[in-house]
Amino acid sequence: MLRIDCPCCGPRDHDEFRYGGDASVIRPAHDDADPEAWYRYVFVRKNPAGAHREHWQHVLGCRQWLIVERDTRNHSIASVALARKPPAKKSPARKPTQ
Ligand SMILES: [Zn+2]
Repeated sequence: MLRIDCPCCGPRDHDEFRYGGDASVIRPAHDDADPEAWYRYVFVRKNPAGAHREHWQHVLGCRQWLIVERDTRNHSIASVALARKPPAKKSPARKPTQ
């Protein structure tokens, strides 16, 4: 059984997560008109035997998107991190001076 250590919720069975695809694929620029670049982005994927960076979403937990580094040969997980950095804490609102 594959267990993913969610940074927010702790270790959970993979049944709580949804696979979101290869995390190493980089989206072309919005105004990139090269159809070959878009073809590669949408359809072409590597199938490595070994370390692989993947997107997973914790759909039955915190709903955060994660980047999981998993070995495809034995499903061992090297690291799990949030796909996005958490928002910076806002400083308390300043009171207007009179
Ligand atoms: Zn979670």
